[in-house]
Amino acid sequence: MENPYRIQCLVPDLPAPHEVLPYLHEMHANRWYSNFGPLNHRFELEIKKLLMVDDQTCEQMHTVTFSSATTALELVLRALNLRQGARVLIPTLTFPATASVVLNAGFVPVFADVDKETWALTPDIARTYCDASVIDAVMPVTVFGAPASTQLWDAFYDETGIQVIVDAAASLGQQQVSTKVHFVFSMHATKPFGVGEGGLFVTADGELAAQARALSNFGFRGASGKAKAVGTNAKMAEYFAAMGLAQIDRWPDLMARRTKVRDHYVDAFKAGGLQKMLSSSVEDHVPAVFMIRTKGRGADVMAALDEERIHTRRWYLPPLYEHPAFAAYCDDTMRHAALFPITELLKNDLVGLPFHGFLNDNDVRDIYDIVAATV
Ligand SMILES: *Cc1c(COP(=O)(O)O)cnc(C)c1O
Repeated sequence: MENPYRIQCLVPDLPAPHEVLPYLHEMHANRWYSNFGPLNHRFELEIKKLLMVDDQTCEQMHTVTFSSATTALELVLRALNLRQGARVLIPTLTFPATASVVLNAGFVPVFADVDKETWALTPDIARTYCDASVIDAVMPVTVFGAPASTQLWDAFYDETGIQVIVDAAASLGQQQVSTKVHFVFSMHATKPFGVGEGGLFVTADGELAAQARALSNFGFRGASGKAKAVGTNAKMAEYFAAMGLAQIDRWPDLMARRTKVRDHYVDAFKAGGLQKMLSSSVEDHVPAVFMIRTKGRGADVMAALDEERIHTRRWYLPPLYEHPAFAAYCDDTMRHAALFPITELLKNDLVGLPFHGFLNDNDVRDIYDIVAATV
């Protein structure tokens, strides 16, 4: 089938066969293909290089691989031993998995509006919900890959004692980790650090790490061969660990290409006096996807780019409460505007421009010119 688009919105950037081959040979020589094999073990140690913390903090952190971020989030939630019927605060602007893991873990999702500037569920917003009702855990999201403030979430935990699990799915390599809150990253093919399918849990809590790992392996803990909890199978196979090790090797080059594209975009919007359309933190990190605000003209911008065979996406949209699967957790559509004013504002405004390491300066200029002519 002919590709209708001249410029793709997202192109996975994974290791080529020759880059993975040495690790696959190693795996085959080991005759060890899953169940926390040598490659997985090495990957769990090596991936700490991407956690953006000093050596001392690194020593304290436990890294546990999973089959996906979704399985990791669900099993970490279950490993936290929250009370039955626990209420977990999550943002409205996120990928559906953020809500489904709460429900699959047996808890109740509570939707929070997001911040006008960062488009995220911030500690300040979480405080207002915690003051107004009982919240047992908070699961903020690193929106479109923009890292969350470890300093502010650590302070939130110190102050409230409420567990914080950051759904940092799209932020591996951008999100710094800390010792007081927990982090889950995705290594799905469409994320900046892709291996195909994979998740990574990072925490300073060794007991929590061990319990989440046990749940990913049928509930086995220790060598007794007895299931100590009702687990599942959510392990990362050695094939994916091999991809992960190869991805670490090419990460500096991959990030250099992504950074260059981010810079081209920022330069273009600044030169045109339209930097207000960009995310407020886009110069401090390299996002997973490149979302812009469009003065409420999202549909027009998408149509104009589509006309030129340039693919766009509205990542994280519609908001969670508009997905039929989650509507029951906020079924009063009349109240959406009152409950989630910022999300309602952003939902017709945000558009995801093409963003991947294979774009060149001319592509970015073409895209910018069409956007600028439309808004
Ligand atoms: C991609 C994503 C997920 C799901 O990650 P998988 O590894 O595909 O399970 C969850 N939450 C957010 C915010 C995401 O962007």
